[in-house]
Amino acid sequence: MQVVTDFSHVRLRDRPLVVCDIDEVVLEFLSPFTDFLRSHNYDLLPRSFRLHGNIVSLLDGSEMDRDSFSSFQDEFFASQNLWQKPAERAIETLHALAEDADIVFLTAMPPRHQAIRRALLDEVGLDFAMIASEEAKGPIVAKLHARRALPVAFIDDIQRNLLSVAENVPECFLISMMANADFRQFAPPPVGAIVSASGWDQAGLLLKKHFAGG
Ligand SMILES: [Mg+2]
Repeated sequence: MQVVTDFSHVRLRDRPLVVCDIDEVVLEFLSPFTDFLRSHNYDLLPRSFRLHGNIVSLLDGSEMDRDSFSSFQDEFFASQNLWQKPAERAIETLHALAEDADIVFLTAMPPRHQAIRRALLDEVGLDFAMIASEEAKGPIVAKLHARRALPVAFIDDIQRNLLSVAENVPECFLISMMANADFRQFAPPPVGAIVSASGWDQAGLLLKKHFAGG
């Protein structure tokens, strides 16, 4: 698959690569998005593994329609620095991993919100390279890794993204991880070689072991 996303700013060294999703992995998303919705008289109910359909009006209980959902999500991303914060143990674990591996963030957020996300990550000391793209993640990771004879790992909360990477980079070590415990219980069970981690401490250990060849 042709990749049009430009990531010429990403420089890799000759060492393992960890490609990491942002929302629900590096930064909390569902909890701050719920806070944001409540400030607009809506709530996000953990009833199933989806957003749309689970957002209801606090005034009359009606479900938010798809157009309003898109504009609320866009407004949230535009003001994400006021709401989002790092997932528990993300900062310490990523810095420890970065001693022996390159870290690259790959976020499916619309690229127009890239500058505000970059500023937020820099502010909390997560100054690792970031790619914002709405293209499928698998072909991007494949192009980035370029079949180097070095370990590569990918972390995401959405199975579709993990499977896209599995298909395009078969040797990639795949970790499924989600910060929000209320929604995590509804996540589809990991399939194939995908390993699930309860949080950053466990993910860090799994990655270390994988990079050591175990
Ligand atoms: Mg995510």
